[in-house]
Amino acid sequence: MKRTLGKGFALVLMALAFMTLGIKAASLSADNEWENYVESSQKMRKHPRLLLLRGEEKKLLKDIKRDSIWSQIHQSIIDVSNQLSKQPYNLLTRKMEGRRLLGISRSALRRIFYTSYAYRTTKDAKYRDYAKSELLNVCQFTDWNPNHFLDVAEMTLAAAIGYDWLYDDLTLKERSIIEQAIIEKGLRPSFDNHFNIKGDNNWNQVCHTGISCGAMAVWEQDKELCAKVVNRAIWGEPFAMKGYDNDGVYPEGPGYWEYGTSFNVLFIEAIRQNFGSDFGLSEIPGFAKTGEYITHMCTPNLGCFNYSDNGNGSTATSTAFWFYRESRDPAILYNQMRILHRRNPESITQDRLAPAALIYGHKYPLTLPGQPEKLAWTGDGINPVYVTRSGWGYNDAFMGVKAGTAKANHAHMDVGSFIYESHGVRWALDLGTENYNNLEQANLSIWNMKQNSDRWTVYRYNNHNHNTLTFDDQLQVVNGRVDFKDRKVAYPGYASIDLSPIYEGQVKNVTRRCELNGMDDLKITDHIETLNKSTKLTWTMMTEASVSIVDPQSIKLTKGEYSLTLRIQGVRGKWFVEKASPYRKVENQNKGITRIHFVAQLGRNTTTDLSATLSK
Ligand SMILES: [Zn+2]
Repeated sequence: MKRTLGKGFALVLMALAFMTLGIKAASLSADNEWENYVESSQKMRKHPRLLLLRGEEKKLLKDIKRDSIWSQIHQSIIDVSNQLSKQPYNLLTRKMEGRRLLGISRSALRRIFYTSYAYRTTKDAKYRDYAKSELLNVCQFTDWNPNHFLDVAEMTLAAAIGYDWLYDDLTLKERSIIEQAIIEKGLRPSFDNHFNIKGDNNWNQVCHTGISCGAMAVWEQDKELCAKVVNRAIWGEPFAMKGYDNDGVYPEGPGYWEYGTSFNVLFIEAIRQNFGSDFGLSEIPGFAKTGEYITHMCTPNLGCFNYSDNGNGSTATSTAFWFYRESRDPAILYNQMRILHRRNPESITQDRLAPAALIYGHKYPLTLPGQPEKLAWTGDGINPVYVTRSGWGYNDAFMGVKAGTAKANHAHMDVGSFIYESHGVRWALDLGTENYNNLEQANLSIWNMKQNSDRWTVYRYNNHNHNTLTFDDQLQVVNGRVDFKDRKVAYPGYASIDLSPIYEGQVKNVTRRCELNGMDDLKITDHIETLNKSTKLTWTMMTEASVSIVDPQSIKLTKGEYSLTLRIQGVRGKWFVEKASPYRKVENQNKGITRIHFVAQLGRNTTTDLSATLSK
């Protein structure tokens, strides 16, 4: 749905502009930084008022019946609900994992959302009875772990959906227990500085959304408080949404895109339904284009360009269906449909918000949409990315390149790093995310992004183990940040980056150009000017292929029936091949992955043009 820029959006922009200048807008109320976009006197619609409104079940079911894939998705949610509602119930317990309750909150959200959906669409009381039991169970936890506020936000959303969707079937006493829990364990602690209400990352989107949905659900119990929560969210989410930064790139990478964005669209949906406007949020620059970003981050073999703390996978999710409904761009559904076809529609039940896919998308039949037309895509922002591919089939070639900075939230020292996939093989890969809790239990300070932080001693996080350059075994400079210098956004195509700020003090100048010239025709060129000192150069590539050294300049990579040769020219050096195993046992041992590095000694004040090719 297209919306014109409303007064609300102007206010959001104004607020942002004033915040940047450090000045409070005169019109803002005395005790809050935000405007009253919605009034506490607002009369709310009857329950259910979140996502699937009262009476909308009939049309939903009619559309589902007409389409075999929607029918399978619907049935897979019912199947999960059948398991959950088997007697005796296996209810959740308040069991922490390290400092997090997040796993339990997420399970609660999935369980309550799925079984409430099953009840509303089948009217079978067994789903309602289970959903009520789980809902009352989590509402009686001592707290929802406010010290890690994502846990509270997801639990509040779970309670909000359960309360709202089952409202007619709850006794006054049951309602009261849930209302109290949402207000005392969700809404009130959200004012105790447990999360950055102006944060520039996924926390902002998840926390504002979860707490606001709680507020919309129990609005009548404390209108002032609930309006305050919703107004704070309308004002606050743009601080994270400006991260989409014109082009739609998500600074934290594809996995966090899904997390932050799935909650963000849920919030937009809920405020449109309850206040008749999204106050310009969907018009924030870059947001409408971010469906295209996630389409292009998906690799031919249905992995993803997993820069920063992200795993190499693309999954079927509700979020893409929201962007499809908004834009009707079939390219957005293309990968979703490939995932559903390849892994079967049941795979969507990995998404705890899966019922939202049906709610957003049921009007549109899921016949296989046409392939996206574009073969390359790029976007700027804090962490600019560039991708190009030979086509949209499973075996096509794909190259992804990252510029940006290690300083961004969840970032790695992966500036200048590339990934390469063809024939379904990830020849050059990014190891991706680590298990946070394991690292935290080992007392590693992984959320400190400073140059000398423990974070950069973690194998998967530093430049030694990314497909980029290292000089004299040093780390990339955290405070450095770079944009692309030049790009051809096409296939064949290339991107070049002046990496000098990332290696400040280590070399005089360094420029990298990554080009995909054809199927299995990849070329990485590095132009390096040294300072007045002899400098050790390490050129690194991580691979899932098996590796054998052919000669001082060549290495053969083999995976299954395919082989490629990696050749380095322009400088003499030596290959080193080793298992990608960190010395700390607490870290992922990266089984089956090999670290290739080519080491050369560069003279003082010299210029080197190194080229690495990956070809048959
Ligand atoms: Zn990485």
